[in-house]
Order: sequence, then structure tokens, then C-alpha cells
Amino acid sequence: MASIFTKIVKGEIPSYKIAEDELFYAFLDINPLAKGHTLVIPKKEVDYIFDLDDNLLKGLSLFTKKVAKAIEKSVPCKRIGVAVLGLEVPHAHIHLVPLNSEQDINFENPKLKFTQEEFCDIADRIRKELA
Ligand code: 5GP
Repeated sequence: MASIFTKIVKGEIPSYKIAEDELFYAFLDINPLAKGHTLVIPKKEVDYIFDLDDNLLKGLSLFTKKVAKAIEKSVPCKRIGVAVLGLEVPHAHIHLVPLNSEQDINFENPKLKFTQEEFCDIADRIRKELA
């Protein structure tokens, strides 16, 4: 069965898209730890990030870097934190979390709630920095 992220890539489930190319897709995490918390995935459905072939992993890193730079310009933060967990969704993904303190990337923190309008606004602002 297709992963929830494959369904997002195919547009079968909506997402707040940040960026896309032939191989990769970035979108806002629906349960964010911080404003601008973004997930970056390969479109190819591989569960474990370290099972990606070398070229895909390299490409994912470079695509992630571009997205991280755009988030950094859009959200007030000291830097962008990076995490890979994959314990919930079996489709490789990188979390990009704007950080002001170490505590901001504690996955046990309560998740933030945003309205649809707020999510759209955050996504728009990040996308503009990628343009
Ligand atoms: P992990 O697999 O890294 O432990 O966690 C998966 C992440 O994906 C979580 O942060 C969760 O909020 C996010 N997530 C799960 N389902 C969806 C979804 O349908 N849409 C979006 N945008 N994010 C999701």
C-alpha cells in the first residue's frame, strides 16, 4: 500500500507544498514543532533513509539544503535543525525545524496548531524565498 507521503506526492492527500522537482518533494509538517517545520522526502518510496542509493541521498541532501536556506529567511530563528526519525511514517523524510534553542527540536514537545490560513501563509513565505 502506498505510504501517506506517496499519496501526498500524487496529490491524493493535500499538503502545504514548499518545493518539488522530479525526484524530491518538501511540505509543511502537519503537526509542527515550530513555525516552518518542513519535511523533505524523495518521491521514491523507501522506508529507511540509509537504504537510499548514494545518488538519491546526495540529491536529497542538496534539495534539503535549498529548502532549509529558504525557511531560514522566512522564519525568525537562529538556524535550521535537522532530524531523521521515521518511526511513524515508513517513507524516508528529513525534518527541518527552525531553532531558537535546543528544546525546539524535542519531539516530545506539544505540537503547534495553526489554521489553514496560517499554514498557507507560512508556506507562501518560504516558497517566495526559493523563487
Ligand atoms: P516520523 O516518522 O519522522 O517519526 O514522523 C512523521 C512526521 O510526519 C510527523 O512529524 C507527522 O506530524 C508528519 N505527518 C504524518 N502524517 C502527515 C500528513 O498526512 N501530512 C503532513 N504534512 N505531515 C504528516
